[in-house]
Amino acid sequence: MSDAATRLDIVREQIVRAAKAARRKAGDVTLVAVTKQRGANEIEPLIAAGVTDFGENRVQEAAEKWPALRNAHPNVRLHMVGRLQSNKADEAIALFDVIHSLDRRSLLDALVKAGDKAGHYPDVFVQVNIGTEEQKGGVAIEDLPGFLGQVRASPLPLAGLMAMPPLEKQPGPYFALLAELARRHDVTGLSMGMSSDYPTAVMLGATIIRVGSALFED
Ligand SMILES: *Cc1c(COP(=O)(O)O)cnc(C)c1O
Repeated sequence: MSDAATRLDIVREQIVRAAKAARRKAGDVTLVAVTKQRGANEIEPLIAAGVTDFGENRVQEAAEKWPALRNAHPNVRLHMVGRLQSNKADEAIALFDVIHSLDRRSLLDALVKAGDKAGHYPDVFVQVNIGTEEQKGGVAIEDLPGFLGQVRASPLPLAGLMAMPPLEKQPGPYFALLAELARRHDVTGLSMGMSSDYPTAVMLGATIIRVGSALFED
């Protein structure tokens, strides 16, 4: 069994290697450590090792775990990577700096309203249903131009596009498609890549990868 610092070193090394292969700078890739179902005792060693960005996929769980951790570590940035219900917008804005799962008008409106009230807005990634899967969240590719227009007309800072490729498929073509959509629509950030495929995502232009299990399990 290795410890958190060792697993983090391995992930960082893979990021460097993949970036180099693609002639990119590893420093242009932000690692978000996804800590769903992980306790503070598992999170603290990553903070001590220099991780600044963390991701959760449930508002309720984040609300239980993170206020105390953030008090102790004010530099941490918290990312919402899971599906977000509009009725949790106020709570989400109080907790998260970045939301990766903006995928519909009703949620956009709820976040704007909550942000108006709170006096600050989270950065947002627009999630794209890149594999056209019925059960998955994300804007349909054909609806992306219109939705990006709505986000750009809102006070929410547009950070980029996010996607999760279909589970049983090779992820490369889907990452490449998301990168192409970002280019076409003049969006700079690309939130793509998880434990099983982040080196491929980095090679294809990811600027932010969301890695969970590779940091916590051998
Ligand atoms: C859990 C999760 C991740 C991290 O997945 P791992 O396979 O554990 O790296 C990334 N993105 C989202 C949206 C998740 O829910």
